[in-house]
Parts: sequence; structure tokens; C-alpha cells
Amino acid sequence: MTQAEVLLKSGREKPLLRKHPWIFSGAIEAVMGEPAPGDVVDVRASDRSWLACAAYSPRSQISARVLSWQEGETVDRAFIRERMIRSIERRDGILGLSQTNARREVFSESDGMPGLVVDRYGDVRVVQLTTAWADAQRDVITELLGDIGGCSTIFERSDADVRELEGLQPRVGLLWGAPLDSEILIEEAGLRIQVDIEHGHKTGYYLDQRDSRAVVSGWSVDAEVLDAFCYSGGFGLGCLAAGAKHVTFLDSSPTALALLGQNIRLNGLDRGNHGLLQDDVFKALRAMRDRRAGFDLIILDPPKFAATAAQAGKASRAYKDINLLALKLLRPGGLLATFSCSGGISAALFQKILADAALDAGVSCRIIRHFEQAADHPVQLAFPEGSYLKGMLLRVD
Ligand code: SAH
Repeated sequence: MTQAEVLLKSGREKPLLRKHPWIFSGAIEAVMGEPAPGDVVDVRASDRSWLACAAYSPRSQISARVLSWQEGETVDRAFIRERMIRSIERRDGILGLSQTNARREVFSESDGMPGLVVDRYGDVRVVQLTTAWADAQRDVITELLGDIGGCSTIFERSDADVRELEGLQPRVGLLWGAPLDSEILIEEAGLRIQVDIEHGHKTGYYLDQRDSRAVVSGWSVDAEVLDAFCYSGGFGLGCLAAGAKHVTFLDSSPTALALLGQNIRLNGLDRGNHGLLQDDVFKALRAMRDRRAGFDLIILDPPKFAATAAQAGKASRAYKDINLLALKLLRPGGLLATFSCSGGISAALFQKILADAALDAGVSCRIIRHFEQAADHPVQLAFPEGSYLKGMLLRVD
């Protein structure tokens, strides 16, 4: 049986020739054959030359995502197995992973498997399938992961919003192995962290912030710290352990704060020098400004405000708002560790937003360092969209 084909409009092959893996619906002249969502299709330029084979997603604006640049390669079980093994091996030697038993093993397009994310928490693997192709391969993926590198449980957390764009329903549940233990503990930089795989954010924990957490805690000795958007405590726990004078944890989610409470006790950090505040950050920062609170170090790690560039305007105002307020709360010489995980906000735009915030706050700041996602969330050079997390450590004069 010949594979269905996607024929591109004239001139629209350029991104593919530069190894960018997305084929947008507007670039397609015709679809030959009748591929089902999730099928593998051949992509051809308008002169019919072969460009790539790709995973077909007819309901999404991104109609196909490249699986292979090598003509004649078959995307079958052996192909996926090979890609998985290479992806897992690619994490070998990454700095920081030696101090944890939690890591991202597969990161979608960046590892050549669009729509497949695999996170490992000790003996448990958590799988997230976000494209029609990855969803169609659920059984193969599960079987292969059960086979490679010994884990006891494979759990599915395919409840990310992006599945909707592919016409896929959310799916959460056990895929393979032993039922999920309600107490999953991971270790990171000497801390024990309780992870809620079934109900927690993402696949349970923000693995992408591992490197930033290590750096920020190093700046917290003797500091009065505000960890805003703290979730289960990633940043602030590290600060307490490193010798911060006091940490205020702030998040709107009661379940996140409950998890954080457990993490504080688990690590023996319950020494009366922290506070848990359940509130909206925008509101809480204003209230702190009004009562002239002051901090030496503020961490701002908000959720995604802009998934796409189209939402960048509104998101920019939100980023500026919280950063302006935070800068006003810093004592002279204070530090702001500020992040954006919005794909729609580039690092350059983020820097501009921060510069605007500093201007309005009437402070002068220096960049101590830039942050990016941890290296187990790699970025293909030709696929800048893979780089979503950016941040800076700023010091006010
Ligand atoms: N810093 C964390 C991850 C933060 S994720 C870590 O390293 O693990 C973003 C967090 O922001 C979530 O916990 C979410 O509950 C919280 N959140 C989202 N909107 C909020 C708001 N308006 N006010 C307060 N918290 C908010």
C-alpha cells in the first residue's frame, strides 16, 4: 500500500529544507490518498520532490509534523524503539541529572517524536500524548517503554489542553504495570519532593526548572524570600535548605500548598521561618506594596500567559504588571528571578517587558544571568519553538 501524500504549495518547502518540522495547513496544496488522523504521510514539494515523512494531524493548524528526513525510512515499531532508546541515552551526562531521580526522557519534536512526552519519576514513567500520531501509537509506546530501562509503572497524563486542537479527548490512567503508589517521592539536589502524578500540574512536577532552582537557591543565603507561583515549593524549599532567613510561599492553589506543606515537613524544614499564603499573585503583590513589605529575593514563576504569539499583547501586560510590582518590593541590591514559559513570548520580548517594568518602577537593574529550560528538555537548532522557558536573574541597584 502506498503512503498518502501531502503536496505543498509552490515556495512553501523552504522551512522543511531548513529542517523545520512543522507543516501548516496554509502551506498545503493537496492531500493525496485518504490519510486518517495520526497516519504517516509523505511530504512533497510542488515539483513533487520528496521532503520528509510526517505525522498527519488534519484537525490542527499544524497539519503534519516531520518524523523522518530520510527517504525510504519506515515509521514502525522498530523506528519508535530506536528513537526512544536514543532519546533516553541522550540524557546521559547531563549536568544536574546525577542529583535527581526525575527527568524528562522524551521531549516531543526535540527528540524526533512529535507529541510524545515521557517523564520519569523514580520507577514510574508518565506519558503524555498530544498529537493524533502519538495517540494512535499509545499501545506500541506503552509496550516499548515497559521493555526499555526497567520501570514498574507507566501512567498516562494526556490531559493537556493542546489535545483539543487535535480533536482528542483527555485521558488519564494506568497504562502498564503496578498501580500508581499515592506517595511518589523524588529527590532533587538533596531535597525530597512529593509528586502528585495523577492530579498534579503537567506530569506532576516542573522538571524544566531544575537548573534555575539550583542557581536561585544559591543566592538566598540569609535572604528574605518571596516565592510567588510556588506550586509544590520547588524554588522556596531550596532557599530554606540553603539558609534563607525567611521564605513566603505564595500560590492560589490549595492543593499545591498542601503538597508544599508535606514537602516542608518531609525535609525537616519546619523551623518557623516560612509562611504559606494562598492568594492571587496579582492581588497579593499589590497588598504587599500597599503595606510597604520588602524582600531581598523574589521569584516569579507564573503559568503560561501566552501559548501563541497571537496572545502576546495581553500576556505582555500581565508580565509587566507582576514584574513592576515585584521590583518595587525589592530592597536596594535585591534580586528578582523572573520567568516566562510562554511559547508566544520570545526571550527578546521578555527582556523588553522587564525593561519597561523597571522603567515604570523607577529602578535600574542589571542582568546577573539568563535562565532556560533544563537540558533534558532539549531544543533542536532548527526548531526554536522547542525553546519555551526563559528567565533572568536581575539585581536592582
Ligand atoms: N515554581 C514552581 C512552578 C510554578 S507553576 C516550581 O518550580 O515547581 C505555576 C503556579 O502558579 C501553579 O502552582 C499555579 O497554581 C499558580 N498560579 C496560577 N495563577 C496564579 C495566580 N493568579 N495567583 C497565584 N498563583 C497562581
